[in-house]
Amino acid sequence: MENNENLIPARMLNEFAYCPRLCYLEWIDAEFVDNADTVDGRFQHRQVDANADPVPEEEAVHARSVFLTGEKVGLTCRIDLLEGDGKKVTPVDYKRGEAPDIPVGAYEPDRVQLCAQGLVLRENGFDCQEGSIYFVRSKKRVPVVFDKALVKRTRELISDLRKVAEKRQIPPPLEESPKCNRCSLAGICLPDEVNLLKEMESKREPKGIIRRLLPARDDATPVYVVGQGHSIRKKGDRLEIWSKGGKTSEARLREISQLNLYGNVEITTPAAVDLMQRGVPVLHFSHGGWFRGISAGHTHKNVELRIRQFQWAADRKKSLSIARLLISGKIKNCRTQVRRNDPEQSAKALETLEKLSKDARNASSIEKLLGIEGAAAEAYFARLDSLLKSDQGFTFQNRNRRPPKDPVNAVLSYLYAILAKEMFVTLLAVGFDPYLGFYHQPRYGRPALALDMMEEFRPIIADATAITLFNKGELSEKDFIKTGIGVSLTPKAKKKVIGGYERSIGAEITHPLFGYTVSYRRILEVQARLLSRILTGEIREYPAFLRR
Ligand code: SF4
Repeated sequence: MENNENLIPARMLNEFAYCPRLCYLEWIDAEFVDNADTVDGRFQHRQVDANADPVPEEEAVHARSVFLTGEKVGLTCRIDLLEGDGKKVTPVDYKRGEAPDIPVGAYEPDRVQLCAQGLVLRENGFDCQEGSIYFVRSKKRVPVVFDKALVKRTRELISDLRKVAEKRQIPPPLEESPKCNRCSLAGICLPDEVNLLKEMESKREPKGIIRRLLPARDDATPVYVVGQGHSIRKKGDRLEIWSKGGKTSEARLREISQLNLYGNVEITTPAAVDLMQRGVPVLHFSHGGWFRGISAGHTHKNVELRIRQFQWAADRKKSLSIARLLISGKIKNCRTQVRRNDPEQSAKALETLEKLSKDARNASSIEKLLGIEGAAAEAYFARLDSLLKSDQGFTFQNRNRRPPKDPVNAVLSYLYAILAKEMFVTLLAVGFDPYLGFYHQPRYGRPALALDMMEEFRPIIADATAITLFNKGELSEKDFIKTGIGVSLTPKAKKKVIGGYERSIGAEITHPLFGYTVSYRRILEVQARLLSRILTGEIREYPAFLRR
């Protein structure tokens, strides 16, 4: 909120008139994502502030970027340009696009926003009967008269928006609306996905196809620095990686989505600050791959979501309802992994996993669920050895860790740690507290929610990556260090495992429920956002991601 938390920014009225849900996401949930329209919009407004925009010369210019509040009408506004003579004033609002070819000259959201500015000006003692919208692209100025009908509509919207904000219930997504195609928050709102899940829950026939309104994959990618004695420095718009022998590599700052530092790696303050300002997290791991912590800028401002997360986590029944679906989904994905890759296709294992997945859905307590998960892990890991090609020389007896006792377990542990950090970063970006889960119980320093949410992805991302690395001969005996207490990976092997992980998480697949093509990394984000929709009461059941 701007200035005063009881006052509505006039531009939010514009959003509310366009789509109430968009306004809620931006104003109440503090979500914001740039797209081409928002970046261009900011640029155009900067031009206004810099007095560089082509305002007709004969028109009097009185003030630019005027901030005003109207306590009685309940609004704040920033007026791009205020023209006038004495008490008689005309606000001018700049819009980046073309003037629409409609009789009234401008769409309702823009007219309402301008009228709201007029109401604030009136409250501040000015005579304001009309304003103008200047459409930058068509260089056209459209007058808007603040007649009775427009003032009434503006006041109605102020009142409706206030009610929605007080109720703290996100409005439903628009249905099959073309507005969503240009909405910068479509990837957060997930309109078609939420509508589909609601239709499925109420057993209605789903309408239309699900549009993929979020990017299939990120343009930016994670950077990993593995090895002792490296240092990270900033030079211009680049991040440089140095070792004792000199510069080893560099990356453009804007192309980095996260920086992962393994072992004793130094980072300079200018590099750390720049990454924080860009919202790029720096993740710190021990030399062995243990996730130690994160350096990040300001966390997400969606306090509402965290309040709900804490309320749900404190409620055993609600926590169990989510945990059951997470674990049932994980067991189903274990079964899929066996069904697709086990040459023997053990009918007994498939049957056991099927049954345990159903049992997990109906578990009456977290303790029972833990038992079911343990039994499923035993049945699944008993088949893992047959998923490994015998000619590569690696075998798997059982799952062991801390420290792992064989190469396969060493790779699995390393991959689980990477996946946990991926989920941690995703949850943080969505607005959750990654330390408070619904299945894994809170323990100091344990990212319980990240561990919860990675469950369904363990078999299909981490285990699948390990099996591919071994079966394709990318890892050999030389990649492992065996000591009396366990097995660890050489620095070269770690790079191979990270490379394999990045190939898996970046791979695009057809979403089994929504039907569009999207990367696994994006799917993690979609799952986290859908979880947030459960907590806000929008959908009832967590839709675990199930690989076909
Ligand atoms: S994607 Fe559509 S429903 Fe969602 S906020 Fe944007 S316009 Fe509204």
